Formats: sequence, C-alpha cells, structure tokens
Amino acid sequence: MSKIKYPYEYDPKKRKLAKIYSKGRLMSGIINGIIIPIIFFAFFYFSGLSASLRDIAMPMGSLAIVFYTFIFLTLIAIIQFPLRFYSSYTYEHKYELSRYKLSGWFKDYLKSMLLFYIFTIPIAYGLFAILPWQNWWIYAGVAYFFLSVFLSTIMPILILPIFYKLEPYKNKKHMKKLLSMIKASGVTNVKGIYVANESAKSVKANALFSGLGKTKRIVFFDTLLNNFTPDEVETVIGHEAGHYIQKDIWRGVIIDTILIFPMLLIVDAVLKATGNMTDIANLPLIFLTFRIIEIIIMPLTNTYSRHREAKADLFALETCRKPEAQESTERRLVDMALADHKPNPAIEFIFHSHPSVEKRVAMCREWKRSKRNR
Ligand SMILES: [Zn+2]
Repeated sequence: MSKIKYPYEYDPKKRKLAKIYSKGRLMSGIINGIIIPIIFFAFFYFSGLSASLRDIAMPMGSLAIVFYTFIFLTLIAIIQFPLRFYSSYTYEHKYELSRYKLSGWFKDYLKSMLLFYIFTIPIAYGLFAILPWQNWWIYAGVAYFFLSVFLSTIMPILILPIFYKLEPYKNKKHMKKLLSMIKASGVTNVKGIYVANESAKSVKANALFSGLGKTKRIVFFDTLLNNFTPDEVETVIGHEAGHYIQKDIWRGVIIDTILIFPMLLIVDAVLKATGNMTDIANLPLIFLTFRIIEIIIMPLTNTYSRHREAKADLFALETCRKPEAQESTERRLVDMALADHKPNPAIEFIFHSHPSVEKRVAMCREWKRSKRNR
C-alpha cells in the first residue's frame, strides 16, 4: 500500500501510447459494432437468405422463430468473432492491459453469448407473437420497460456474479469509513460495498453502482483497491454514491423507455412497408432499423450520459471534499486504461459516455478555486 505514488502525475510514455491504443479500440468498435452488423443485416435480408432460412424454419410451426433467431444470431456471432477476439484478447495483451488466460477469455465469451441467446430468443418470440395485434408497439414498449426494470434489478445479484467473484469488502475499517461517508451524503439502505476480482481479467480499474430497490449496491474492482490510495478510493465511491442518490439507473430506464416508443413506431412503419408484418424473415430488418436509429441518436444518448457523469463527479467533490485526490484518481485511471485524456471533440461528442479526463480534472480545479474564493 505504501508504494502507491501520490498524487499521481501522468506517465508521458503512457499518454503517447494511449493515443495509439484508443484509436485502435475505437476503430474496432466502429467496424464490429456498426459497419459489420449493418452490412450483415442488410445483406441477409435483401439477398433472400433470410427468406430461405424462414422456409427451412417454417415446418417447425411455433418454434420456427426460435430456430430462425438461433441461426441468425449464430451467423452474426461467427462473422464478428475474429475481430472480437482480436480486439478483446490479442490487442489488449499487446498493450499489457489484459490478464486473461485464453481459457478464461473463452469462458467469459461463451457465458456472454449464452446470456445473449437467453434474452434475445424469447424477445424475438414474444415480438412475433404480438406483431399481429393492433398497436403492438404500445404493448412492446410497456414490456420493454418491465424488462429493463427486471434486468437492472437482477444485474448485481444474478448477472455480475456470472462473470465475477463478488465479495464484501474485507477492510472493515476502511469499509466503515466509506459507509459512513456514503450515509452522511444522504444515501440510505446501502446493501454494502462489494469487491469484484477484475485483476484476474485485466489491469483496468473501475467501480459501479448497480441494482434497483433491494439489490442496490456499490461494486468496485480489486484493481482499484490495490492501486489507489484510500482517499482516491473514497472519491470513486463518492462518484458512485452520486449516481445512487441522483437515481441514475431509474433515469436511464425511463429515458430508454421514452425512446423505445418512437423507435418501435419506425419499426412498425418499416414492417408495414414489407407487406407482411408477421413474416419472421423480417427479423434482420428489425435489427437493422434499431441499429441505424441507435447510431443516429448515439451523440444524444452519450451527451446525456456525460452530463450525468459530470453530476456524479460534482457530487463526489461536494461529498468527499478532496479535489486533489479526485484529480489524482482521474489521471491514474486513464493511465491504467490507456484511455485518451483529451480526445478529439467530435469523437468525444459521438462516442464517449464519460467526459474526457481533461474536463473532469478541470472540474476538480474549478471546484477547489471556487471554495477558496468563498
Ligand atoms: Zn459514473
């Protein structure tokens, strides 16, 4: 613990490397998350492959949609696999950011694919069951709301433990201090602070506030605990407490629900244009429509997210009142993750869910100045 340098200053070598590394990450994200899915969905639908798969599935009756969706998801997974493996395993190891063993990476990959199937196939099934209804999109939107609430609730108790060993924070003294800090900031009914064993997977540090109602908890990565001073950890918990008290998970669920209705209406118009609303061969068209809308509104959703993150930062400043430690935390975090602390403003506007570290550090300094002048 005593070996931790404080306050942390940027490592110039890491700052240079971060520029290159973050560019590669962004590129692979754009290729695998935007270009490949859009080309695949469009090609699969317009080439007639989708209709052929439907014809094979049709004799299965009510299970046709299950079979169709399974094959469709598997095909896109196969196409995305090489770049997914390269970007999340090879590339991360190249920059010494990953601690994954090959078997560990595969295990997590298979688990995430399994979860993807478990959620997507029933959703597709349900969607095609209600598509013949009038105003199906209203029912779908309402169902989406309940599904979001359900997922947010089970996240820390059922989903996170699939990927992490979650243990209550063992340092009783520090835990007590953090909990009393959190309580003093107005956050009640905290179910505790948990530690996730990220150090088995990567060197990156993070913390998150997860859950709804009775499952609400703060989880931080052991990488944060091992490499940050207690004051720095406190500022991270302060930030998470900010999300907690400002009800950011509820805000997210509500905003997503507001957005889903116009999105479903557009899907409704697209499906009507095909002439056969309930044809399961339309599934790629539904995926394509969603993907395109998501990309178009990405700058908006990310701008909103950055706004919420800045609010959480401000809450941490007001609660912990340790601007130097908070600044040091930000610098240490970007160096550890090789993230770009000063990204191109256009890239930040479109793709970044968090404000740049340059802006976050500036906020700490601004806060400190305003307190001194008062
Ligand atoms: Zn945050």
